[in-house]
Amino acid sequence: MKDEYNKLEVYIEKSMAYRQALALFEWDAQTIAPDIAMENTAKTIGILSNEYFKNMVNDEVKQLIYHLSDPKNQEELDFNQKAIVKYLKKDFDRLEPIPAEEYQAYSELSAKAMGVWVKAKNNRCFSDFEATLEEIVGYQKKFAGYRAKEGQKLYDVHLSDYEEGFDMEKLDLFFEQVKAAIIPLVKQVKEKNNLIDKSFNSLEYDIAKQKEFCDFIAEYVGFDKKKGVIAESEHPFTMEMHNKDVRITNHFQKNNLESGIFSIIHESGHAIYEMDIDDAITQTPVGCGTSMGMHESQSRFYENIIGRSEAFWVPVYSKLVETFPQQLEEISLKDFVKSLNKSEPGLIRTEADELTYSLHVMIRYEIEKMIFAGELAISDLPKVWNEKYQEYLGLTPANDDEGVLQDMHWAAGNFGYFPSYALGSAISAQIYYFMLEKMPFEKYLSEGNLSPIQEFLRQNIHKYGATKITGDILFEMMNEGLNAEYFIRYLTEKYTKLYNL
Ligand code: ZN
Repeated sequence: MKDEYNKLEVYIEKSMAYRQALALFEWDAQTIAPDIAMENTAKTIGILSNEYFKNMVNDEVKQLIYHLSDPKNQEELDFNQKAIVKYLKKDFDRLEPIPAEEYQAYSELSAKAMGVWVKAKNNRCFSDFEATLEEIVGYQKKFAGYRAKEGQKLYDVHLSDYEEGFDMEKLDLFFEQVKAAIIPLVKQVKEKNNLIDKSFNSLEYDIAKQKEFCDFIAEYVGFDKKKGVIAESEHPFTMEMHNKDVRITNHFQKNNLESGIFSIIHESGHAIYEMDIDDAITQTPVGCGTSMGMHESQSRFYENIIGRSEAFWVPVYSKLVETFPQQLEEISLKDFVKSLNKSEPGLIRTEADELTYSLHVMIRYEIEKMIFAGELAISDLPKVWNEKYQEYLGLTPANDDEGVLQDMHWAAGNFGYFPSYALGSAISAQIYYFMLEKMPFEKYLSEGNLSPIQEFLRQNIHKYGATKITGDILFEMMNEGLNAEYFIRYLTEKYTKLYNL
């Protein structure tokens, strides 16, 4: 069996090389490539993508994967090799049942869809996007139908693509619990909102100075500059080549100090996860974070649990004040930290605070469920969207740009993706309570000693990459799977204290 694995390994190494090259082009395009370069560069990317596809999707690779997936052929494979075979088989099973001409037609549709969405968004007009979205949904339903196991619901097929082991049954329960706790909390907080002042956050902050501070804070939380670089882009993101080359970006706004600081802490959380992956599996298909939900749990752990805590700012707030004395001299550490945690219902998901964020996700989850159950006509989307925002957040969008058209996910065909954001928040809270039992968490933060925290995450989560699924990693670490109670407890304790509820 070793022979078969060795043969497969040649294909894997080649495909990882293509993938890395493609990632570099993507990074380049989003950071420093000239805007008009894409016209020509797209040709190179097309050729590389095609080679990547041919290298992995062919009869020999298929035979090798199926042969090695058979338990009786796995005796000589080690843990990581088994995980790689399982990962590739899952990928194969995902693409295999889709007829090639339908896949081709869908690829052409998706290439256009993003442009149609951008235009509709600029015109603030959902009906400009409606027909395209209808087509995308049609394909996505059809594809899910090809792949569904007997009795499996279409939307569950999508959900398990992003988070293996999760389905509507689990998520309905999760969101029911979260909703029951958060909605009353949001209402109470709203009544006391004038208690917290964060007007200083929108004063003018020199961008060069912001950049200097953000570079410092990235390294402070654990972003290893020997293994990564920081650049700027329109929307902050993380992109990994392998565990010794992880890149992040930031975006600065002159009149929003918090935005740049918390974007860089968030992306650093993603990057630390990738940098901590074991050498033995980097540059293999399992040499990356295990799922979207787990990745978001790490970025949010750094951004919210660490970054928005008072203990974290104890050693570094004075440095921020020294950087911006005019704006911050009068603001105490306590008031600064309060401002970072102020909660206010809004219309835009990406600008939402910790407390209201999950409600934005829940609205999308409920709508996606209705779409895939055939209970919602695409033309009714804006209406249902606006009703749900009124119901859960007490606000109605003035137009489709700040309503149903705000996210790019549906244009990209990513259905079933949104719940991962809420799962990430919930997982991060659960890990936090577990860590409180294991270490003097706050003491470490207030001493500026973050390395024991990172080491704990590395040993229990990061190093495994995608050799284990989220549910197994959580269970092996805490003897318990995802439990929404911790997230509810975290938000309740935090906001009760913050607003004296
Ligand atoms: Zn993220």
